[in-house]
Amino acid sequence: MPVIGVINQKGGVGKTTTAINLAAHLATRRNVLLVDLDPQANATSGLGLLPASSVYDVLSGRTSARQSILKARQRNLSLLASSADLAGAALELDASTENLRLLSRALMGVRPNYDFIVLDAPPSFGALTLNALAAADHLVVPVQCEYYALEGIAGMMDTIDRVRQSLNAGVNVLGLLLTMADSRTRLSQQVEENVREHFGTLVFDTVIPRSVRLAEAPSHGLPIFEYAAQSAGALAYAALGEEVIDRVAKA
Ligand code: ADP
Ligand code: MG
Repeated sequence: MPVIGVINQKGGVGKTTTAINLAAHLATRRNVLLVDLDPQANATSGLGLLPASSVYDVLSGRTSARQSILKARQRNLSLLASSADLAGAALELDASTENLRLLSRALMGVRPNYDFIVLDAPPSFGALTLNALAAADHLVVPVQCEYYALEGIAGMMDTIDRVRQSLNAGVNVLGLLLTMADSRTRLSQQVEENVREHFGTLVFDTVIPRSVRLAEAPSHGLPIFEYAAQSAGALAYAALGEEVIDRVAKA
């Protein structure tokens, strides 16, 4: 039943790609719910779904999570979808502690139905991301292999510390995930070295390579395992899934 939040305040670092493909890999072995908390709804469209109701209806109390959850086409995978009106929810919610626990509370009733719940967070530190941080037991933090990676991680870690003090004392950083790595470039190698030097075993062994297949899969509404099962990206996300299962078991 652990809730795993895929979090980084920066956009374009691979959160949604990671959330979809991590959820899809976990679903090959367990029962999984993916929750799309980004008003851009990329995880929802990336699974090829067009929802009638969304997590917005759940957060605003109009429906229950149970009523709004959709079956994805993949076995053992369900989705609590997003829609554009979720952006409205982010504006409406002031940052009262009560409002930041809406997701956590909404998921309580369905948690026993799933072995893993994966949250795809939006690229901001607004009420939606804070709801994800309040609901999560574990965090996966994608880090794009680019020049400013270390500064970005430091900022994320500070925020997570503050969340621990105020909102969710138990939240655990499961690991930092290096994404969009290009082993041919010196920069990418250097970023990987630096991040591993600073954060040691907190960094997942698995590195996600830059791969056109990973970028193409969502436009077909498919996880990488169904779009290009033998691609480097598919192998990497399967390896990540195994590391996540191990780390959750040991946490
Ligand atoms: P975020 O959710 O953090 O904004 P996304 O997962 O949507 O990031 O990724 C941003 C863009 O980069 C998307 O167009 C996505 O398809 C692409 N992308 C993500 N990961 C990879 C990768 N490993 N290789 C190539 N393209 C990627
Ligand atoms: Mg995203």
